[in-house]
Amino acid sequence: MADPTPVPATAGKVVIRNIGLLLSGALERPILDADTVVSVDGRITQVGKYKDCDTGAARTTIDAKGCALSPGLIDSHVHPVFGDWTPRQSQLGWIDSYLNGGVTTMISAGEVHLPGRPRDIVGVKAMAITAQRAFYNFRPGGVKVLAGAPTIEKGMVEQDFADMARDGVKLLGEVGLGTVKAGYEAKQMVAWARKYGIQSTIHTGGPSVPGSGYIDADTVLEADADVIGHINGGHTALPLKQIECLCEGCGRAIEVVHNGNEYAGLHAVKIAKQIGQLERVILGTDSPAGSGVQPLGILRMIAMLSSFGDMPAETVFCFATGNTARTRDLDCGLIEVGRVADFVLMDRAQHSAGRDLLASVRGGDLPGIGMVIIDGIVRCQRSRNTPPAERVPELVA
Ligand SMILES: [Zn+2]
Repeated sequence: MADPTPVPATAGKVVIRNIGLLLSGALERPILDADTVVSVDGRITQVGKYKDCDTGAARTTIDAKGCALSPGLIDSHVHPVFGDWTPRQSQLGWIDSYLNGGVTTMISAGEVHLPGRPRDIVGVKAMAITAQRAFYNFRPGGVKVLAGAPTIEKGMVEQDFADMARDGVKLLGEVGLGTVKAGYEAKQMVAWARKYGIQSTIHTGGPSVPGSGYIDADTVLEADADVIGHINGGHTALPLKQIECLCEGCGRAIEVVHNGNEYAGLHAVKIAKQIGQLERVILGTDSPAGSGVQPLGILRMIAMLSSFGDMPAETVFCFATGNTARTRDLDCGLIEVGRVADFVLMDRAQHSAGRDLLASVRGGDLPGIGMVIIDGIVRCQRSRNTPPAERVPELVA
């Protein structure tokens, strides 16, 4: 199996019209002047005004009723195990709950919560390949879980990375959660991973749970992983000075997570803004974890960063969509022709003080989700988890 990309479903032609606000996911132009999106078999074919789009002979027509449409949210940092189950909090159905929070793609930062997780190199590789296959074949609620992220251990050699890449592994779990903690060792393995097309992320900050380690800014910079995993700590953050060094001292992705230090997360985004590099900011929950599972975690991050960070909501939505898609080379996350038809339809929550969706998020409220679509297929309608939206889209046919 060479191609780890989940197989797109055949959804036929889908027309979504009467969109009140089209969030593109693209930082350079976060709002599009369009009210209609058309997709065919799970790929966007047209974005524009209704009168200019070919809307005939659709298998599914959705009247957005003036709701906002955003690319499906991407959680850049999750710790799945197998199926829709997490042993960390003994919970079933957590991924389906995140779908109800607008998340359509999740990226594993390591399946580290597996009881009895193997630490020997053969076991590490076998488990990564198994996790990649299992989530390729099984998508809870339609959510794409990009998993199979091995925790690197001392003794791994270049051939191990070549083997895993050949067998479909595309991600490394958080560097630092295994026995490789020194910068020079991590640097070598991250470079081998990169050579074979495996993307890497590194644990930043204090230990998460007993057994994981402390990784400071010098180690993060030396290792040079593609993603500065939870720059705001998971949970314990580095001193703000070190966070500044990370933002200014390299060009790698700045990942801010829900289960980290919110104050430090705000600081990292402030620095990214100051240096004109907001395109590096991506969001994750770092869940399931000791802090639990957060079905609305990405929405909560968006509302927190927009309100406390004093940033337009449409900009912050890009952190959880287009920025992550571009950083991680995914074909979702942006509303443009050719991209995957993964969408969230939402409106301001009932009784929010904000006059519309963007104002309500800027004021710190969560939006109400009315529908989530993955690969052009409606996966949920009114969310069971968000506050109720003022307006809700309707399936017309
Ligand atoms: Zn971590």
